[in-house]
Amino acid sequence: MNATVSGPLWSDTVAFDNIARPILSQNIEVDVAIVGAGFTGLWTTYYLKKLAPHLSIAILDANHVGFGASGRNGGWCSALFPASFNKLAKLFGPDQAKRMHNAMVGNIAEIARVIELENIDCDWSHGGTVIAARNRVQLDRARDEVTEHSANGLPASDLEFLSAAELASHANFSDALGGTFTPHCAAINPAKLVHGLAKVVENLGVRIFENSPVIQISKYKVVSDNATVTAKYIVRATEGYSPTIKQARRSVVPVYSLMIATEPLSDSFWQTTGLNNRQTFSDFRNLVIYGQRTADNRIAFGGRGAPYHFGSAITPQNDLVPNVHSLLEKTLLELFPDVAGSKITHAWGGALGIARDWMASCGLDDETGIAWAGGYVGDGVSTSNLAGRTLADLICGQSSDLTTLPWVNHQSRNWEIEPFRWLGINSALFAVKHADAVEAKHGRTSKVNSLLDRLIGE
Ligand SMILES: Cc1cc2nc3c(=O)[nH]c(=O)nc-3n(C[C@H](O)[C@H](O)[C@H](O)COP(=O)(O)OP(=O)(O)OC[C@H]3O[C@@H](n4cnc5c(N)ncnc54)[C@H](O)[C@@H]3O)c2cc1C
Repeated sequence: MNATVSGPLWSDTVAFDNIARPILSQNIEVDVAIVGAGFTGLWTTYYLKKLAPHLSIAILDANHVGFGASGRNGGWCSALFPASFNKLAKLFGPDQAKRMHNAMVGNIAEIARVIELENIDCDWSHGGTVIAARNRVQLDRARDEVTEHSANGLPASDLEFLSAAELASHANFSDALGGTFTPHCAAINPAKLVHGLAKVVENLGVRIFENSPVIQISKYKVVSDNATVTAKYIVRATEGYSPTIKQARRSVVPVYSLMIATEPLSDSFWQTTGLNNRQTFSDFRNLVIYGQRTADNRIAFGGRGAPYHFGSAITPQNDLVPNVHSLLEKTLLELFPDVAGSKITHAWGGALGIARDWMASCGLDDETGIAWAGGYVGDGVSTSNLAGRTLADLICGQSSDLTTLPWVNHQSRNWEIEPFRWLGINSALFAVKHADAVEAKHGRTSKVNSLLDRLIGE
């Protein structure tokens, strides 16, 4: 596969190179130090300033605003949470699972409210998500998901089963037998949102330091390469990059998700393909794939499948895995054969964070003043907003509906030491790919599915 640009499509749409932000070169003292200038760090800062405008806040990033997953993702601003309703119900009870579900749905309206209020143009289109079932096993999975949803007492309007004809009214997938639709997702340009948020918080008086990697976080102290920040509260918002910080080495593993983007596609392509409301899309295979029609009529399309790198390594080389990018192109062609002949203009990747129990969490240690949020897997675009609002409440000592949600102060155990996590994660990845191959070829569920469920605690 020959992409014209090795880098996120979204980076072309924001002029972040023109903004010179300082390196932290002198010791400073603030009320709150935020480590990481992605969605988690910026949403937390935003809500802190709204709740307590007098707080002095400094943000430190090892690279630049939006360098991490926040500036590279698929732009699904969805109500998805990495732990399923059933898993949450098993861990915390059905009422708490329902509260979490409602909070996640509420994120979308809240983000829509803020981008309108703050005048952030991020190509927002609240078109929902359509997921196709493209073989018999996938169709059963779609039906089971809707049945389970209603058995859990969740509103039918949240998740609708679609016949093949109903699916076609959203999008014209090849081999489609049916699918599902949820209205709870907006397609966005994530780089525009993350850079827009940075500007908003700077206008509220927050200082952002770039190229200032943090090496160590301890009570009241953030140690960076050249200087130290003293702060009563510290927020670790480093997600997949957390293993670069001494105290968080095994808190999450960085797993790569890779993406490609096509050139803008013709009107005739879109007349046949649909996605007229820019519905985000996927299918019911086991290995996650995700796509969106961008505001300029491209397809931005991604998926997991890249290997986990030994020792939780994160390097620029890991962003490009030619065989996985080629597979993404092939998969996109399978979904929409009319893409054939169009150019792939961009290829890129990024690290997301997975906690050992696949449960996202946020919290504050009252004793040390250190807060954190993350482990969102591939669902952090909107979950980070919930984290930001919750951490702001916790830091301001304000109990609220948010601070009693079940993910607050949840602690996952650490990941295994190497080589066990390398072996475990890459074996699981192999099993997922194998399961999809079996389903596509033989039309039956692979035996490894139950093993995978056990692996992620379902
Ligand atoms: C390719 C891809 C596609 C995805 N698609 C979706 C999607 O469609 N929908 C969805 O909901 N989620 C998606 N995700 C996940 C989502 O992007 C993340 O969950 C979310 O952006 C996490 O935001 P964050 O601010 O916590 O972390 P990040 O955005 O990763 O930010 C962490 C920041 O910390 C900085 N940093 C790292 N180490 C240090 C250090 N030592 N000192 C100081 N700063 C440091 C980094 O430079 C970075 O800017 C995707 C992720 C990827 C990689």
